[in-house]
Amino acid sequence: MTRANEPSRLAMTQRPNASVYERLGVPTIVNAHTTATRLSGGVMRPEVADAMREATQWNVDMATLEARASELIAGHTGAEAGYVTAGAAAALLLGTAACVTGLDPARMNRLPDTNGMKNEVVVPRSHRNFYDHAVRAAGVTLVEVGLSDRYVGAGVRDTEAWEIAAAITDRTAAVLYVAGADARPPLPEVIAVAHAAGVPVLVDAAAQLPPAGNLKRFIAEGADLVCYSGGKAIGGPQASGILCGKRDLVMAAALQHLDQDIHWEQWNPPPALFDKGRIPGLPHHGIGRPAKVGKEAVVGLLTALDLFVAEGDDVRAARWTALMQNLVDALTGIRHATVTLIRGRHGATAPTVHLTLDEAAAGMTALDLVRRLQDGEPSVHANPSRVHDGLVLFSPVALQTGDERVIAEQVRAILG
Ligand SMILES: *Cc1c(COP(=O)(O)O)cnc(C)c1O
Repeated sequence: MTRANEPSRLAMTQRPNASVYERLGVPTIVNAHTTATRLSGGVMRPEVADAMREATQWNVDMATLEARASELIAGHTGAEAGYVTAGAAAALLLGTAACVTGLDPARMNRLPDTNGMKNEVVVPRSHRNFYDHAVRAAGVTLVEVGLSDRYVGAGVRDTEAWEIAAAITDRTAAVLYVAGADARPPLPEVIAVAHAAGVPVLVDAAAQLPPAGNLKRFIAEGADLVCYSGGKAIGGPQASGILCGKRDLVMAAALQHLDQDIHWEQWNPPPALFDKGRIPGLPHHGIGRPAKVGKEAVVGLLTALDLFVAEGDDVRAARWTALMQNLVDALTGIRHATVTLIRGRHGATAPTVHLTLDEAAAGMTALDLVRRLQDGEPSVHANPSRVHDGLVLFSPVALQTGDERVIAEQVRAILG
């Protein structure tokens, strides 16, 4: 491990601006996995970091800042309102809470105790994932629906919309839908049956960007609330996210998140986000208070969102593809492996490099290779999701330019 004041063994792999981590004695890593939270997300554009620094030098009213964020997010998404959260998971918590309480401050105060409230969330069984803990944290129970026969190969079907309709009762607060290229049933069918029963649909679209068109797609399809991660491809602060959707629901979420330590008489909320006439009083600090958002995070997210949309899918894909092509080129002729550039699906999602290891010839498994890269200096983190197929994956999304050469050096050092 390289410490401050100690000469680096691999001077050429030292990257610029690592000084704060050198001072702390914390080694930096190469993140070829994705914008994984465990690996600190990605590398922020200087324009975003500069905007965040500037934001810290002034004070603002947080409700006014979030109300302006609402207008800007509405512009990008087509939603009635939007809100900056501490991540997509925080947006899931706030969105669920909003569906449970509506605009009733007494209910807001009781969460996560949901006794006597609509406190069930219906979810297709194949959409269950470890982020839905954030939904359950609001005090609801998940009601799983359907069978995903297609995953085990026993059949071809997944949950169907009629099964969701059959599971909705007067206790249903929302339907949770986790968006994805392979997600079934189609979102419009789910929305149709949920809305027929008067139930809102909450869409987890945390990782569905790019394509940038997905900022508008789920709202256009009729979703009531949509959650995005700010710390993934948008390139905002690692702990930021977006909740957008119906005005009343976003208002209900904001009321359970913003600091409310103020006299009712002096509370003069910005009309872009709040309608004072709709509530009898202010709730206490709400269920979202432990996931608070600072002004610099709001400013950073908004700056990153503008840049993400302005860059566009084609330029972004070309930038990422060039990085991955560099990696493929640098690995040309590598022993015991074939290296392939896989283009992103739909031409908009990120390309990946697949390294297929000849495990017998290399005398190691793909998981061994992942572990040895991780133990290297600097530590290189590949995506291990396909190691059981003998594949090691590399993603460009969180890389710095030059990282691809570091990765190639290390793979060559290990495979010979
Ligand atoms: C990443 C992710 C989340 C969490 O996003 P954060 O912004 O890290 O809170 C939630 N749901 C899904 C499907 C994700 O991929």
